[in-house]
Amino acid sequence: MSFIRNFSIRNKLIALILLAGLPSIILGYSYIIISDVVSMRKNMLRKSYLEADLVGRYCIAPLAFGYEENLKKVLDKLRETLPHVEEVYVFNDNGRLFGSYSRDTITREPPPAPNGEFEKLEGDSILVAKELILDKNHCGYIYTISSAAELPELTTNRIISLLLAMIGAIALAYVLALRFQRVISEPILTLAKVTEKISDKPDYSVRVEKHGKDEIGTLYDGFNNMLQQIQLWEKKRDRAQAEQVRLINKIEEKNKELEQVIYVTSHDLRSPLVNIQGFEQELNYALNELLNILSNIELPEETRTEITRIVNDDILDSQKYIRSSSIKMEKLLSGLLKLSRVDRMGSTYDTIDMNRLMEEIINGFEFRVKEAGVTTQIEKLPPCFGNELQINQLFSNLISNALKYCDPARKGIIKISGQVDSGKNRVVYCVSDNGIGIPIEHQKRIFDIFHRLNPEEGEGEGLGLSIVQKIVNRHNGHIWVKSGKGEGSRFFIELPSLEEPGDFLGEDR
Ligand code: ADP
Repeated sequence: MSFIRNFSIRNKLIALILLAGLPSIILGYSYIIISDVVSMRKNMLRKSYLEADLVGRYCIAPLAFGYEENLKKVLDKLRETLPHVEEVYVFNDNGRLFGSYSRDTITREPPPAPNGEFEKLEGDSILVAKELILDKNHCGYIYTISSAAELPELTTNRIISLLLAMIGAIALAYVLALRFQRVISEPILTLAKVTEKISDKPDYSVRVEKHGKDEIGTLYDGFNNMLQQIQLWEKKRDRAQAEQVRLINKIEEKNKELEQVIYVTSHDLRSPLVNIQGFEQELNYALNELLNILSNIELPEETRTEITRIVNDDILDSQKYIRSSSIKMEKLLSGLLKLSRVDRMGSTYDTIDMNRLMEEIINGFEFRVKEAGVTTQIEKLPPCFGNELQINQLFSNLISNALKYCDPARKGIIKISGQVDSGKNRVVYCVSDNGIGIPIEHQKRIFDIFHRLNPEEGEGEGLGLSIVQKIVNRHNGHIWVKSGKGEGSRFFIELPSLEEPGDFLGEDR
């Protein structure tokens, strides 16, 4: 029955109705055909028996009185009245042939006198023997041979007409099955059509109209319920998406404001800082002049000692703090300016030949590399897709840190490698060093703005990795570090290798 599984629901139902009804129709008609054929034969035998009986009654009187001529006349009448009776033999009570009749001239021997009554079909003839009785006395037998030649034809005609009736009944069953299957198939087909329509063009406001309270009605209720739930869920999702867009816009707005503030502050604070530095120098000249004048005039020793103390301990010390603080402030401001400049670094995104770019970057560090006695090992690098200025800044910051955080106990080695993750259209670069390393507990915070592990040690403002992180974000990339105290550091940078669908690059996330 598995072949039925691939039928349409309509054909499946028709097939099932027919499969259930056909055996009964065929069995019923087979029974009718067989019993009809049997009863046709029986009727024919019965008819021949009755005819033999009738003829026998007319023959009894001539037989009883020995009138052979009269018997002949009686039998001759059969030619018109019973044309299918072919031969008749009348035997007396001694079993002697008393008279006979034959439609055609026959040459064969007459049959022997029968011993009892019978009626049987032999070939295409019906043979009947009937006892002749007068006043309850046996006076002989009549033996008739009738033609049964039309029996096969009659039987065939009968079978054909019954077979036609059976075909008619099957056709009627098919027509009825065709009509009745709709009761089940139509609601299911309606449901299937609605489902198809929704999957083509999602419109969850449609509903299917229920026509009954049966299981299909329950299915319709369930389906309508499901659509309603999806509709509600869609509304909620749309609201959440709108809220998300609103929040993203707000964040972007705030980010822009913040960047503007950073830019303006770092830019505008430079002029007062330049003034402070200028006046500090002015103060230095004035102090030198004052010291010069003091050295050339006569003063009591006590006063001179007091003035020298004030100049050295108070004025020069304060001047030293003013200078170092203004240098620090200048560095911080230029760091902040660099961070805010990332957004102004250009919006042209292209495929970058990383081998060429890396050569340019390393050439820029030639002096520092030599000074630190570091070896650089650069493997063949796959290209990436991005903004060249920003990518230059990104790798410059990482290489600068690798040089800055060398381990004085060993000769520094900086390795740069990269490989393509073609399945994801991404490329992953690695900048590794054998420097002082970063303890695990600090690794999460090193990308935070102004975060430094040892603020007192070495040059830096804690902004280099913040700039790196910002550039990576703008490229929809990913950066992570593997390191440990004294183990060196490996910075991994994942960037797009091809232009990605949906031009998102250059957006802060
Ligand atoms: P800066 O180098 O100016 O301090 P960064 O943002 O570049 O600021 O780095 C933040 C901190 O991360 C640094 O202070 C340093 O402690 C640590 N760091 C960064 N790169 C390395 C490195 N290659 N090896 C060891 N420590 C590093």
